[in-house]
Amino acid sequence: MSEYDYLIVGAGLYGATFARQAADAKKRVLVIDKRDHIGGNVYTESIENVVVHRYGAHIFHTNSERAWNYVNRFATFNRFTNSPVANYKGELYSLPFNMYTFNKMWGVTTPDEAKAIIEKQRDEAGITEPKSLEEQAISLVGTDIYEKLIKGYTMKQWGRECDKLPAFIIKRLPVRFTFDNNYFNALYQGIPVGGYTDMVANMLKGIEYRLSTDYLANKEEFESLADRVVYTGPIDAYFNYELGALKYRSIRFDTEVLDTPNYQGNAAVNYTDSETPYTRIIEHKWFEFGKDRNGDDIPKTVISREYSEEWEVGVEPYYPVNDDENAELYSRYKALADKEGNVIFGGRLGEYKYYDMDAVILAALDKASMALKGDFVVKW
Ligand SMILES: Cc1cc2nc3c(=O)[nH]c(=O)nc-3n(C[C@H](O)[C@H](O)[C@H](O)COP(=O)(O)OP(=O)(O)OC[C@H]3O[C@@H](n4cnc5c(N)ncnc54)[C@H](O)[C@@H]3O)c2cc1C
Repeated sequence: MSEYDYLIVGAGLYGATFARQAADAKKRVLVIDKRDHIGGNVYTESIENVVVHRYGAHIFHTNSERAWNYVNRFATFNRFTNSPVANYKGELYSLPFNMYTFNKMWGVTTPDEAKAIIEKQRDEAGITEPKSLEEQAISLVGTDIYEKLIKGYTMKQWGRECDKLPAFIIKRLPVRFTFDNNYFNALYQGIPVGGYTDMVANMLKGIEYRLSTDYLANKEEFESLADRVVYTGPIDAYFNYELGALKYRSIRFDTEVLDTPNYQGNAAVNYTDSETPYTRIIEHKWFEFGKDRNGDDIPKTVISREYSEEWEVGVEPYYPVNDDENAELYSRYKALADKEGNVIFGGRLGEYKYYDMDAVILAALDKASMALKGDFVVKW
C-alpha cells in the first residue's frame, strides 16, 4: 500500500483546493511545490507592513456563489473594487471606458453625446471586416480611444504593433455609458484581509506539504509514494518538452520600497503610451482596507513596475499564447496526458489555459468531486 492516496504537485489554488477536498474526504495527502512558498502565483508577502502581490496584482472577482462561499471559508475578504487609472503622457483617464473617460476625452456629459462621437469615428474609419487588432479596436471604440488608451499599451503587452496582431485578441472591449469605473462586472469582489498566502495556509491546514521540492527532479520516487498524482505544473515540462515547448508571455516585476506614504493614490495605474517601457505600476497598499486614511499610518509604500516580456524555457510563464499553433501543440500533449492513468493534469499550467482564480477553484472542486466519487466528500 502506498504511503499517500494523493500526491499533489503544486501548492497554488488548484493544488490547494484539490488537497483540501481530498483531505476532507479522509484521503492521505502530500502536497509538494518547487518554490519556497505556498500559494503559487497568488502568493503575497509582507514588505514594510504592506501586503505585496509578488506575481502580479490579484483581485478576486466572481459571479459564482459557490466559488465565493468556498473562499470565504478560508479568509475574510475586504471590499476592494478595482478602478484602474490610465496615464497617457500625463493625461489621466478612468478605466474601464466609461462616462468619466468620455468626459475627459471629449468634454461630453451625456451617454448620447458619447455614443454619437464613437459612432462617427467608427463610420469615418469605414472598417467592415476587421483584419487586425487595430481595425477591431477602432471599429469597437473609435480612433481617439484606440490611439490614446489601447494602441501603446497593447503593443507593449504583446511585443508587436497592433496592425500585426490578430483581431480575435479583443473580441469585445468593456465600454460603459454610465459613471461606473468598477472594472469587473462581478457580483462578488475583494481581496483576503492579510493576503492570499494566509488564505492558502488555511486551505492547507492539517495537510502535509514540502516546499523547494521539484517533482520532475525525482519523478519516479514521488510516484511510488502515492496511488494518484495531481500535477499542476507545465504539461510540456512533464513530458520533457518531447513535442516542443508551448509558448507563453512573461512579465518582469520591478518592486521598490519608496520613502513616501502615497506614490500614485491608486492601486493600478496603466501607462498607455508606447514610450514608457512598463505597462503599469501597482501600489500595493491600496489593495488593503484603510485607504481612506491616506496611507499615513504606513509611512512607506511599495510599488511594482510591470514589464511585459518574451518567454523562453526557464523563465516564469504567465499568459498562454492562445493561437492555433499552440492550441494544436497543447492538444497533442493532452493526448499524451490522457494516457497517464494515475495522473490528473490541472490548473493554468497543467491545462495550458488562462484561468481566473474563481474558475481554477471551481475546476479543482469539480475534478476532486469526480475523482473522490463514492467517498465522503464535503460538497460545495
Ligand atoms: C499577472 C497575473 C495577474 C492575475 N490577476 C488575477 C486577478 O486579478 N484575478 C483573478 O481571478 N485571477 C488572476 N490571475 C490568474 C491567477 O493567477 C490564476 O488563476 C491562479 O494563480 C492559477 O492557480 P494554479 O494553481 O493553476 O497555478 P499556480 O498558482 O501557478 O500554481 C502551480 C504551482 O505548481 C508549482 N510547480 C510547477 N511545477 C512544479 C514541479 N515540477 N514540482 C513542484 N511544483 C511545481 C509551481 O511552483 C506553482 O506554485 C492572474 C494571473 C496573472 C498571470
